[in-house]
Amino acid sequence: MDTDITIIGAGVVGLATGEKLSESFSNLYVIEKHPTFGQETSSRNSEVIHAGIYYPEGSLKAALCVEGKNLLYEYCRKHEIPYNNCGKLIVATTPEEVEVIEGIKETARKNGVELDIVENEQIAELEPHIYALKALHSPTTGIVDTHSLMKQLEAGIINNGGQMVYGSEVKGIRKLDEGYEITLLDADGQYFSFSTRIVINSAGLTADKISEITGIKDEKLSIHFCKGEYFRINPPKNRMIRRLIYPVPHENMEGIGIHVTIDMAGGVKLGPDVTYLDSNEYDYRVNASKQEAFWKSAKKFLPFLEIDDICPEMAGIRPKIQKRGDPQRDFYIMEESARGYKGFINLIGMESPGLTSCLSIANYISGLVTNIK
Ligand SMILES: Cc1cc2nc3c(=O)[nH]c(=O)nc-3n(C[C@H](O)[C@H](O)[C@H](O)COP(=O)(O)OP(=O)(O)OC[C@H]3O[C@@H](n4cnc5c(N)ncnc54)[C@H](O)[C@@H]3O)c2cc1C
Repeated sequence: MDTDITIIGAGVVGLATGEKLSESFSNLYVIEKHPTFGQETSSRNSEVIHAGIYYPEGSLKAALCVEGKNLLYEYCRKHEIPYNNCGKLIVATTPEEVEVIEGIKETARKNGVELDIVENEQIAELEPHIYALKALHSPTTGIVDTHSLMKQLEAGIINNGGQMVYGSEVKGIRKLDEGYEITLLDADGQYFSFSTRIVINSAGLTADKISEITGIKDEKLSIHFCKGEYFRINPPKNRMIRRLIYPVPHENMEGIGIHVTIDMAGGVKLGPDVTYLDSNEYDYRVNASKQEAFWKSAKKFLPFLEIDDICPEMAGIRPKIQKRGDPQRDFYIMEESARGYKGFINLIGMESPGLTSCLSIANYISGLVTNIK
């Protein structure tokens, strides 16, 4: 075997997994088609450390988010990665939403996340400029500088003796009697093959394609691109917000509503919205004609906002295995021995809270690797 472990994809999940596994396996490659890490979903998101509020009890999303959040805060402190445990408010602006937030508090409690119900005076103290009838305060929510996080994870892999292989796209995977043969296309247009005992498919938006070229065909694992667009709140009104502010989420959790996020540089964004794309194309354009819709959504709880206070910013794409209109799906993280692919570990549908959960996902995968017979 040329190597023990091959991780496909240098997003935050692939990198975290690489750092964890390189502690035990010196023979480890992380393969990435772009010239550097984090060029796709891992750098096109809200950078929120989620508390673990909305995910169904017993789901991987719930467990890995709650565990991952704590690990991530600890990791940031240890490695001096910029973060801010700023907290978040979920705001009810209608009597119907006031009822819904009681249910959210209960779901969160089942996941081990305590939220406080806050009313008029406390809301005004926390966020003097917003409108809310009632709100939930989540003290463990925060934000992180994702680029610094990924840079640290990459450094961890290299320091442990793992190899980052950039500018190389996985084009073929062939099952061998023992392990797999991986074929890469490098930046010079050259093909190159090597053998590996274990493959970890952390290819984000194209993880379903990687699974398919290996031989695993399963319609339930098809990824549906779902775009999230953001608008920025221009200065000086960005300074009227101190923490994350979310509306009450949609019922099937396709997204958690156009919310307000702050970043480590003091920027304030509205978004992301939820738009399933008709085909899986990398379309990161922001549709400027959505400005009015974003403004109207946010104005419900940001009464000071005028339409010209916002402008288009950026977009990201969620790798959803939940089809449009279907109920929420969990992360799919599986060692595929049961399908006849021993040592092949699939990570598919790694949407939010994938960033928050990256370190707990890495531990989970480490457990799967240990159990391969
Ligand atoms: C709009 C939006 C907002 C979000 N907000 C949050 C948030 O606030 N908090 C949170 O916890 N999560 C959030 N998420 C989710 C989070 O961003 C993702 O879960 C996380 O970034 C997934 O990381 P990844 O490593 O799995 O995927 P990616 O970052 O997509 O990395 C996959 C990598 O695989 C590479 N690759 C693919 N195919 C190949 C191939 N054939 N050969 C070589 N390399 C390949 C790609 O180039 C890419 O670099 C958000 C997501 C979106 C879209």
